[in-house]
Amino acid sequence: MTAPRILVLRGGTPCRGAVRTPGEKSISHRSVLLGALAEGQSVIHGLSDGADVAASVAAVEAMGAGVERRADGTLAIQGGREVLHQPQGPIDCGNSGTSMRLLAGMVAGFGWETELIGDASLSVRPMDRVAEPLSLMGATVNGTGERCLPPIRVKGGGLRGIDWTSRVASAQVKSAILLAGLSADGPTVVRESVTTRTHTEEMLVEAGVDLTVEAWGDGRIVSLRPSTVRPVERSVPGDPSASAFFVVAGCVVAGSRIDVERVYGGRARLGFVTVLERMGAQITVSPGVPGDTVTITSTFGPLRGTAVEAAEIPSLDEIPALAVAAAVAEGTTVFRDVGELRVKEIDRLDAVAHMVTAFGARAVIDGDTLSIIGVGHGAYLHGARFDSLGDHRMAMAAAVAGLAAASGAHSLITGFDAVDTSYPAFADHLRALVQSASPLDMPRALVVAIDGPAGAGKSTLSSALADHLGVDRLDTGAMYRSVAALALRRGVAPEDRDAVAGLAAEAVIEVGHRVAIDGIDVTDEIRTPEVGQAVSVVAANPEVRIQLVERQRDWARDHGGGVIEGRDIGTEVFPDAAVKVYLTASAEERARRRHDESPDGVARRDRIDSTRAASPLRVAEDAHLLDTTGRSVHDVVQEVLSWL
Ligand code: C5P
Repeated sequence: MTAPRILVLRGGTPCRGAVRTPGEKSISHRSVLLGALAEGQSVIHGLSDGADVAASVAAVEAMGAGVERRADGTLAIQGGREVLHQPQGPIDCGNSGTSMRLLAGMVAGFGWETELIGDASLSVRPMDRVAEPLSLMGATVNGTGERCLPPIRVKGGGLRGIDWTSRVASAQVKSAILLAGLSADGPTVVRESVTTRTHTEEMLVEAGVDLTVEAWGDGRIVSLRPSTVRPVERSVPGDPSASAFFVVAGCVVAGSRIDVERVYGGRARLGFVTVLERMGAQITVSPGVPGDTVTITSTFGPLRGTAVEAAEIPSLDEIPALAVAAAVAEGTTVFRDVGELRVKEIDRLDAVAHMVTAFGARAVIDGDTLSIIGVGHGAYLHGARFDSLGDHRMAMAAAVAGLAAASGAHSLITGFDAVDTSYPAFADHLRALVQSASPLDMPRALVVAIDGPAGAGKSTLSSALADHLGVDRLDTGAMYRSVAALALRRGVAPEDRDAVAGLAAEAVIEVGHRVAIDGIDVTDEIRTPEVGQAVSVVAANPEVRIQLVERQRDWARDHGGGVIEGRDIGTEVFPDAAVKVYLTASAEERARRRHDESPDGVARRDRIDSTRAASPLRVAEDAHLLDTTGRSVHDVVQEVLSWL
């Protein structure tokens, strides 16, 4: 599955419904690496399907782990120290910094040399923070320059345990040290003054590793003894960072309400929710099943600026999404100490400022502080053209900004396929939310009424429109024609009200691609001149109308709405129709379209239809008048779609 290269969005399109984001990335990476280290078969459900985690999977495969990808997305990994071996060539971590740092720690535990390479952007991300502790443990880690830029070579084995105090808060560095510590000669201790993501510790304990944690000021001390890793079966909860885009979309796109289900519920990862709550967002977090997952529900409402500390947002991954909230908020939102954003996949600090500016808010970067001045209540973002520069989070944030733009404003995001890194199905999921709220999908529950005289183009328009919307269509004229045909067949005079009403009451009329009365196909018969002559008289019969109108309403209920054409659909049958169209065309054009019927016959029909007492043909007050003379079907369909 890959995402589109360009995404076009229309502002003011509400998003409603529930969504599940791909497996949490950190847990996914660690599940794969621990699966490879575990003695036996590990089974992982709901693994992230992004390119980053795929790089970790490919890496352990290159080291000899047996990887089985099941049809439901489940991954089974056969691993163990005896199974793993030196990879044949360099291991390509692609764009994934997590893969490179964690793998560096993992391979340091083995006596071979591994080369870890990455793409252009990963190749400028420093690896010195992992290289230093791993070297202290006895591994040799070589990269380019002082900051140990990739490609890096790691030669491991024969490690000693260390007592390491982190100088920077980094879960990746902590994890690399712990993974290496699994095969060291003694205990390994990592002290962090600020607690970073705790997945590695939690998952190591789950896999039977001898690991303890104690509080240490605001942070913690993690102590690990060399241990064997046991295989486990695990369901990866949804990724909070990916969820942030939907949570923000629910807050900023007018008319929206989104449930993001089964999200990883670790409080440290939900800092963005706290920030949004401070901004006045309507959000609830409810516990999910099983225990460690939550459902986050966000509803559109006014937001105000706030101050955000970097420590609230671990890894700063949710800053692009929060920046969109800041861009629509009243007042200024200040993101402090976010300089680290400069060394993400791209210079994300600059990209975020650029994005909010493109969409019509203002941004100021001052050292490591980013301030965003929102457009405020009652104002909207512009539509914008924005390039992701290959950064998945920028692509997703810009998509949310595009939906939050003023109603009807178009946005175009190029390089949108960057989302493949972490969330290939993002556009599909967004589309599903948009569609479950958008009137475009409403005809499944509501009715589009198309009325007008003979030859105005109702049948052509309603078929094309129904196809376009993926809904059903009902030709009510065919129902009246069926009753007229039945009367002719039975030798009942069309004017004989009671007799015709009796026929209508008993007849089983099926109207679809073919038309049948009591199971007999009458598709052609109802189009004969004789029926054309009789139908308007039959249709003027109030008893007949009552019966057929009831069936038309039943049809709409059974079909969940649809495109319905006739003479009285908008006025009588469905006065609450979502959209009412009254089609007309010049007399010449209508006569030309009805070439199989005499012009006098058509005129007579129109006259009777418009002057009869029972629901005559007339324009509903709230109908859109549409003259189809000389216009293409495509054109007419587009115009009606614009009213939807
Ligand atoms: O749509 P069509 O031209 O096939 O309709 C045939 C006739 O059925 C119309 O001329 C009109 O008399 C009748 N009709 C109606 N009410 C509708 C649909 C059709 O009276 N809703």
